[in-house]
Amino acid sequence: MKRTVAVGGLKIGGGAPVRVESMLKVPLSDEAGCAAQCERLLAEGCEMARVALPDVALADALARLVKRSALPLMADVHFDPAIATAAMMAGCRAVRINPGNMPPGRLDEMIRAAKDSGVVIRVGANGGSLSPRHRSAGGDGGVGAALFEAVKEQADLLLDRGFEDVILSAKSSSVADTVRANAFLSQAYPSLPFHIGITEAGPGDAGLVKSAVGISAMLSQGIGDTIRVSLTDEPEREVRVGYEILKSLGLRARGVNLISCPTCGRRRADVRSLVAMIEPLLAGLPDGTTVAVMGCEVNGPREAKNADFGIAGSPVGAVLFKNGQVEGEYDYDALPNVLPGFLNTQNINTRT
Ligand code: SF4
Repeated sequence: MKRTVAVGGLKIGGGAPVRVESMLKVPLSDEAGCAAQCERLLAEGCEMARVALPDVALADALARLVKRSALPLMADVHFDPAIATAAMMAGCRAVRINPGNMPPGRLDEMIRAAKDSGVVIRVGANGGSLSPRHRSAGGDGGVGAALFEAVKEQADLLLDRGFEDVILSAKSSSVADTVRANAFLSQAYPSLPFHIGITEAGPGDAGLVKSAVGISAMLSQGIGDTIRVSLTDEPEREVRVGYEILKSLGLRARGVNLISCPTCGRRRADVRSLVAMIEPLLAGLPDGTTVAVMGCEVNGPREAKNADFGIAGSPVGAVLFKNGQVEGEYDYDALPNVLPGFLNTQNINTRT
């Protein structure tokens, strides 16, 4: 059984659900901007956010943000253990340190402070900031092996000092290197929680695909207790995509499960316009509700019947199903008026 660590009230690892994280993209010097981003992330279902603490001078701003934000925060610290200690004194319940640039010989004071204040430490190595020493220790195993060596060095240092509230993380912009590093680490530390993601995955489709492939590959091997989708985009999108990945693997059920067919030459309804019509109506439905929008009678009726709400293209417009039962057939032109009343939460038994 995996160890559970707690960042404030947020449990990570063990039997806890896989958590969805992001990182603030405004500097701590912009306190109002940070607070607003925390609120938007919380509204999207974000469960913890990292915040860069580049300097001890910003520890007071961090303390104010910790007090102000309902979202659990993890201070992201590089180069100097004293900054990590300052984050703990500021009230942060979790700190990420980077073994690629954090001097292992100067960690004792930080570890004592973490023990005294019940702080979780994430040892998070990144392929872009591996030290020459760790690269060399990885030998012919490349970046994957070097990431493993970097995390192992500092994880062992913490564990040898009796500090066990640890999360491990090894990320690269390469899916293959990240998966390899995490496979090595999970063999070496089967009981510790892992944070996973593909770092610097990029913008747009490429970033989504890289993240989904890498995170899914690791989760399917049983590796990963918290995830972050690292996109060149708004952090709220990282959270939405994170939940989509977990939803597609059946691990979390935030939001509606929307099934829609790609359409083909058989289509009786324009599925894209139907989806555009219903998407604004989905926000009020309970988590886990399944809505199917299908273009014709080939796969349409079965998918639509199996869903909580189903819409299948028909010769006149669409047949609507609720709880597997036909509600009626409507002309396409009538649908904008019919759908808001149809997609309501009354009388549905969410069957997913
Ligand atoms: S449901 Fe009908 S329209 Fe949609 S892809 Fe299948 S056959 Fe084509």
